[in-house]
Amino acid sequence: MAAAAAASAPAAPVQSAGWETIGHSAHDRPIRALLVGSPRARVKVLVVGQVHGNEPAGRAVIARLRSAHPPRGTALWLVDDANPDGSAAGTRNNANGVDLNRNFPYRWQPQDGVYESGPAPASEPETQVMQRFIERERPRVTLWYHQALRIVVKSTGDPVVERLYSARSGLPRRGLPRYHGTAVSWQNHGFPGDSAFVVELPGGPLPNAGVRRHANAVLALARAIAPPRVVSKPIPFGDDRRADMAEYAQRHYSIRDFRLRDPRVIVEHYTATSSFQPVFDYFSRNEPDPELHELPGICSHFVIDRDGTLYRLVPTSIMCRHTVGLNWTAVGIEHVGQSDGDVMGNPRQLAASLRLTRALQGRYGIRTRDVIGHNENRSSPFHRERVERLRTQTHADFPKPVMDRYRRLLRRLPAPASVR
Ligand SMILES: [Zn+2]
Repeated sequence: MAAAAAASAPAAPVQSAGWETIGHSAHDRPIRALLVGSPRARVKVLVVGQVHGNEPAGRAVIARLRSAHPPRGTALWLVDDANPDGSAAGTRNNANGVDLNRNFPYRWQPQDGVYESGPAPASEPETQVMQRFIERERPRVTLWYHQALRIVVKSTGDPVVERLYSARSGLPRRGLPRYHGTAVSWQNHGFPGDSAFVVELPGGPLPNAGVRRHANAVLALARAIAPPRVVSKPIPFGDDRRADMAEYAQRHYSIRDFRLRDPRVIVEHYTATSSFQPVFDYFSRNEPDPELHELPGICSHFVIDRDGTLYRLVPTSIMCRHTVGLNWTAVGIEHVGQSDGDVMGNPRQLAASLRLTRALQGRYGIRTRDVIGHNENRSSPFHRERVERLRTQTHADFPKPVMDRYRRLLRRLPAPASVR
């Protein structure tokens, strides 16, 4: 069947190496998907070049993305044509006359004419093929190319992702009526952590500059949701230190455990040093701290160096002593620097910090208001402390005005679910 499809669909890519047949159309033409990037990548971005047979412009973007290098930790799934019968015939709808983008089984309703929705939800083989594929791959973000309204269509997915694509592609983001049975609404409803949206390209074939711009917009989007690169540099945390931590948790929180379960808070700190190594050495020694004279020695799960390198010193499954009142439920992030101003004024370090924080928020479902500075510990609803003289204890780092700015920057990044 591949030969027949190629003969009647001249826009099909010349090479078929690496394409996986994920199913067949009503007239038995293959529907194909190509993985670009590592099969082990945790974050997948799905791009569908065409679903209406008379709207083929997106396939040129797919052709360009075949040779792309997706950012580390991400991979692209490319489906060049979800409606090969419609493409072969040059018709919007499939061989049964059904508009596939009205046939998905969410808010489906019977419709006739251009928007013929089929005899039942997901009645069409092409719809079923895409459903199965999306259920199998769980793409974090999906783009469906259509023509010819020249907009990025607002959906109920992550608006930051759509705005980013809009800014990069130059197409404004606008709403359309809530159509019934669309692929995007089925995805956004069924996979609430993931985002799917439609890009309406201009009419006619895309010029080369447009192809490049849209392919780059897809890659920018992948970069924005890529997992941060974390260097593992563990400090010793053996049985003695674990026992010290469990005793601390008992004294201060009435928790007889060294494990950090279901963290609800992220606390930002700075080291008051100008390099990483002394911090690592200090956290490695399990000695009583000079301020409260307690064991275990203080530490932090992550340290971010001046150049933006992210080090993980302690797994987030173990408590670290970094913030009085919150160690039982908080992940600690230290920034190498002499002040919070040092950190906020260093673009690489700040970008790395926001990215790591967003990824941790996504992994644990932590709200942005629970990303706090050390100085904000006492006003956290999670603050608890059995030792009375410590109930008002805090440090000066990252007070509320600085953290208000930090949280504003966080909210400009893709939602935690997009970067989990
Ligand atoms: Zn369309």
